[in-house]
Amino acid sequence: MSKISSVLISEVGPRDGLQSVSATMPTAAKLRWIDALYAAGVREIEVGSFVPADRLPQLADTAEVVRHARTHPGLVVMALAPNLRGAQAAFDAGVHKLTLPVSASAAHSMANVRKTPQQMVEEVRRIVELRNAVAPATHLEAGLSTAFGCTIQGAVPEDDVLPLAVALAGAGVDEVGLSDTTGMANPAQVRRLFTGLAREIGARAGAAHMHNTRGLGLANCLAAYEAGVRTFDSSLGGLGGCPYAPGASGNVVTEDLVFMFEAMGISTGVQLEGLLAARAVLAQGLPDEPLYGMLPPAGLPKGWTQGAQHG
Ligand code: ZN
Repeated sequence: MSKISSVLISEVGPRDGLQSVSATMPTAAKLRWIDALYAAGVREIEVGSFVPADRLPQLADTAEVVRHARTHPGLVVMALAPNLRGAQAAFDAGVHKLTLPVSASAAHSMANVRKTPQQMVEEVRRIVELRNAVAPATHLEAGLSTAFGCTIQGAVPEDDVLPLAVALAGAGVDEVGLSDTTGMANPAQVRRLFTGLAREIGARAGAAHMHNTRGLGLANCLAAYEAGVRTFDSSLGGLGGCPYAPGASGNVVTEDLVFMFEAMGISTGVQLEGLLAARAVLAQGLPDEPLYGMLPPAGLPKGWTQGAQHG
């Protein structure tokens, strides 16, 4: 038996997905969706965002969703907070892990949080101090959004990305991940940037957050895997996007990503049959939203036994 490789699938649909759809999913439907993801073996879920309810009414029930998600043993309950005030609310709600978005593009940063990237580093430093004081067990991850390109300013120089990651690691976050918020990344760029990230910040190099806007989501995840990344954000049904990056839609599809890794013999801990059941629960909760993905309509290959590919 060879050693089994494994990756962590971090489901971001209830946050990244819902923030990009116009419909507001009833809280009870969100809880059923999260329960179905958990039943499929998903062990990290970004369940919402602590932003003012008038900005994202779809996510106004995040504290309640966090409280419910925390009842599942072994589930890492994540949320996003764009500022100190949101972080305080997230710590009060009891999140295990908090994502702090920091745009590598100055234009996207102003549009998204009305701060420059450097001002965001200072905000992150204040959030780290608050965490240390009130919720020291909470894991903090900075997500460098628009790290691969920006729909507002276009190209984002790679020399802007890595120094920002170093500054955030220096500010005290546990991890810095790279996000292709606008679906502009390509595999060569992904390999270069994640290799550079690991060189600059070592074990604090974090997740790959890829969008499938231009069809390169899986190829980019594979390139990130080959560069040493072991945590991947994805969204059930490919729900997702960014309301402040016009034209951006569709996270990499969880069903397709799990299929790719499992078929390669890389363990995800997630059962595909369970994921397909969770997709049906999601479709019931958001009946008017299109769901994406190639595996669900094609089905599992004949003779597929999950785990048979492991070692
Ligand atoms: Zn995203």
